[in-house]
Amino acid sequence: MTTPNRFTPETLAKAAASRATAKSAVELVKQAGLNVDSTTEAKILARVENMPHFCRRTYLTAMRGRSRNSAVKAFCSMCMGWERVEIPLCTDPACPLFPYRPYVEHASGPEEPEEPDETEGHGD
Ligand code: SF4
Repeated sequence: MTTPNRFTPETLAKAAASRATAKSAVELVKQAGLNVDSTTEAKILARVENMPHFCRRTYLTAMRGRSRNSAVKAFCSMCMGWERVEIPLCTDPACPLFPYRPYVEHASGPEEPEEPDETEGHGD
């Protein structure tokens, strides 16, 4: 199976322009309004610095705790080495995120209410 070639002259120019105007990782993390302690913020910053620019906002949206969709998108992107085109090609249907992975048409209907966590109350 082949993946489409995303690196046309137009996409490379667009990516270069985007990088030239992109905010630094430090700026993005400071502006994200994360409600975390300084140790956690440092860990988040380290992760942001090591991911492609186009993934940073989705990741930080997830880290604000306001979007499960962003969390799934960020996690699948990390899992696939930041290659979005690989996510629809995921070969692990047993992964609990598989039915929710982004960039795929899902045949499911409206989302059902969350199941109670079966591990709760078993820690004593
Ligand atoms: S669904 Fe696939 S891409 Fe997403 S986290 Fe699971 S294994 Fe990784």
